[in-house]
Amino acid sequence: MRCPFCQNPATSVTDSRSPETGSVIRRRRQCPRCKKRFTTFERVIFNMPWVVKKGGGRMEYDRAKLYASIALALRKRPVSPDRIDEAVDRIEQALMLSGEREIRSNRIGELVLEALKHLDTIAYIRFASVYFNINDPEAFIDMIHQAVRERNEGTYEP
Ligand SMILES: [Zn+2]
Repeated sequence: MRCPFCQNPATSVTDSRSPETGSVIRRRRQCPRCKKRFTTFERVIFNMPWVVKKGGGRMEYDRAKLYASIALALRKRPVSPDRIDEAVDRIEQALMLSGEREIRSNRIGELVLEALKHLDTIAYIRFASVYFNINDPEAFIDMIHQAVRERNEGTYEP
């Protein structure tokens, strides 16, 4: 680590602390030349896989876009932004832990469906009707029945 004060190419670590929670490591450093002290933070950066769209095009993973699609399904539903953030965190974690360099956009859709099942049944139905491209009222009713049945059977906690 280069000294930010005098640009000396080497500094020494005087103290290193790992947090109880989270993944940020804090280090106290001192420059052997100008003797100034400073703190650095170190955290793990995972690489998100590329998203492969239905048509075959590839795009960079976009957290804001994922958040927006979940928030849209949850519009006017009693679910806080914090819980949406948590759901996005879990989806990201699943994507990172998959270790894949590319992931189909359908797979992300499945993870969103799974997350919405646990957050809010109405939002789940909204998202699923688009995801499964349902444009027949009877198929829509079937899907609602199935979602309600699964919820009532306790297959998932709403
Ligand atoms: Zn220095």
